Amino acid sequence: MAAKPKIFLTRELPPETMAILRDQSVLTMNPHDRYLDKQEIIDGVRKVDGLLCLLTDTIDDEILAAGSNLKVVANFAVGFNNIDVSAATRRKIPVTNTPGVLTDTTADMAWALLLAAARRVAEGDRFVRTRAWQGWGPLQYMGGDVTGATLGIIGLGRIGQAVVRRARGFDMKVIYWNRTRLSPEQENELGVAYAEMDEVLRRSDFVSLHVALNDETTHLIGAQQLALMKPTACIINTARGPVIDEKALVSALQEGTIGAAGLDVYEHEPELEPGLYDLENAVLAPHLGSATIGTRTKMGNMAAENCLAGCRGERPPNLVNPEIYE
Ligand code: NAP
Repeated sequence: MAAKPKIFLTRELPPETMAILRDQSVLTMNPHDRYLDKQEIIDGVRKVDGLLCLLTDTIDDEILAAGSNLKVVANFAVGFNNIDVSAATRRKIPVTNTPGVLTDTTADMAWALLLAAARRVAEGDRFVRTRAWQGWGPLQYMGGDVTGATLGIIGLGRIGQAVVRRARGFDMKVIYWNRTRLSPEQENELGVAYAEMDEVLRRSDFVSLHVALNDETTHLIGAQQLALMKPTACIINTARGPVIDEKALVSALQEGTIGAAGLDVYEHEPELEPGLYDLENAVLAPHLGSATIGTRTKMGNMAAENCLAGCRGERPPNLVNPEIYE
């Protein structure tokens, strides 16, 4: 029987995944309930066959070089902006992600933020807890209508499309911008109309961001783009923090350039742009997009399967750099 592969895991994952990894590999892992620093990851990857890491781990060329036996880097996320994929490709190391299994869960979170921001749920919750509420009032905490409003999607990939499907129940008009325009059949099936990004920003009551983070999408939304939005509009970000220029967003929310924001991700997590903490018109979640027990378990099992396949020298199922096999 072939020897079990050696895997280094940077943070404990759900129990089902841990059982798979313990059964099928010689596992070393982060013993702490905190992020590892770079040196700790470097020490961890020496002599192992596979690295199973998180979106909070920056995997650069130095780490890849330290893992001289590395046969795979498996990310526990669909986004892989935390990994220097070009460096891994140069070193012929397959990099994998966890697409699909978190699509619905993340779309649900975008909707939770959209509804909370529109209907001022978090603000109302904070108010009730002050014990100052004197009862129902006709002008209290009035928000914006969701039903019948225009939803703008920026980035109509898997999660963007799942958000659109949920909009049907709210009779929304949906417009989108995507780098690659969908086919007329796909547009028709989803019930969406294409528009240039500026147009989407101008016309939408809600703008939800779903692009992957890379050099081209960093600060895709800055002061100039926010200025195009309606003063009542609400922006939702469940993609990655750096897609929005967070300083510009804080100014726009403070000055009333836009109405509200629902954010799951931040430019410099876990730090937020200081003004953001004090803004009543921002709903702030601590990066919970995929955080359900079922989804995190599926992501863990998928990442484990990718990692084990890579360690065995097989082509892992969810490869993001297929060019290494060309
Ligand atoms: P996906 O199906 O691969 O969609 C990616 C989208 O990004 C596509 O619309 C793609 O456009 C666009 N894109 C990629 N590179 C671009 C570029 N250079 N310029 C413009 N657009 C570009 O991915 P997904 O599964 O929907 O996930 C989307 C993102 O959500 C992930 O990358 C991740 O960062 C984030 N996410 C966050 C959470 C959370 O916890 N908050 C959870 C899951 C995912 P094309 O169609 O033209 O390729």
